[in-house]
Amino acid sequence: MGNKVLIFSAPSGSGKSTIVNHILGLWGDKMEFSISATSRAPRGEEQDGREYYFVTPEAFRELIAQDAFVEYEEVYTDKFYGTLKKEVERIWNAGHVIIFDVDVKGGVNLKKYFGENALSVFIQAPSVEVLRERLIRRGTDTPEAIEDRVAKASEEMTYAPQFDHVLINDDLQEAFEEAEFIVEDFLADGKLDGNF
Ligand code: ADP
Ligand code: 5GP
Repeated sequence: MGNKVLIFSAPSGSGKSTIVNHILGLWGDKMEFSISATSRAPRGEEQDGREYYFVTPEAFRELIAQDAFVEYEEVYTDKFYGTLKKEVERIWNAGHVIIFDVDVKGGVNLKKYFGENALSVFIQAPSVEVLRERLIRRGTDTPEAIEDRVAKASEEMTYAPQFDHVLINDDLQEAFEEAEFIVEDFLADGKLDGNF
């Protein structure tokens, strides 16, 4: 059985969560989210072991020293995020495909690590203007945070060519169909369990 992984990365507001949730809605019984470790504090209703494994910065550094990570990134100052090797083993041992939802640098690093076992997808809004409008309409960020995210997006878009597939999320229904197609095609090649 192939140990398959799906990697989704995108600048914030591109529609990554919307598309990943759609894919999970279709194949959630065969796939599982990789829960990252982070040294940032839990927000709102977040629970340890559900959204993230929450650890102190010291504990995170100790895990780095132990070579416990597939990849990690200091996304913001002193705010580490990383994928634990143990988490990968946990999901594969359950016989599930792993879904990664990571920043674009993490996505590139994970693709390098998993190689042919991975499908990496970069989700992109049709333009920076549309991205800004979606973030405003989503209503989860302050105007300053939105401008930060938009500014970061321009840099992040330069990573798109390093992904296996760039999915332009313009019409949502079409984006869903394209995502379904590429995921199904990738998993069928792996002859995971004959059901794809
Ligand atoms: P991300 O996870 O990449 O930050 P979200 O999935 O939260 O992005 O999408 C950002 C906002 O844009 C959400 O409010 C979502 O409902 C909306 N959205 C996503 N895709 C589309 C689309 N194709 N057309 C219009 N709005 C969209
Ligand atoms: P947040 O703090 O909003 O949950 O996440 C901040 C950023 O960290 C997001 O871009 C998210 O995709 C990224 N991230 C989450 N987990 C990981 C991980 O394991 N590795 C990397 N490189 N980035 C991650």
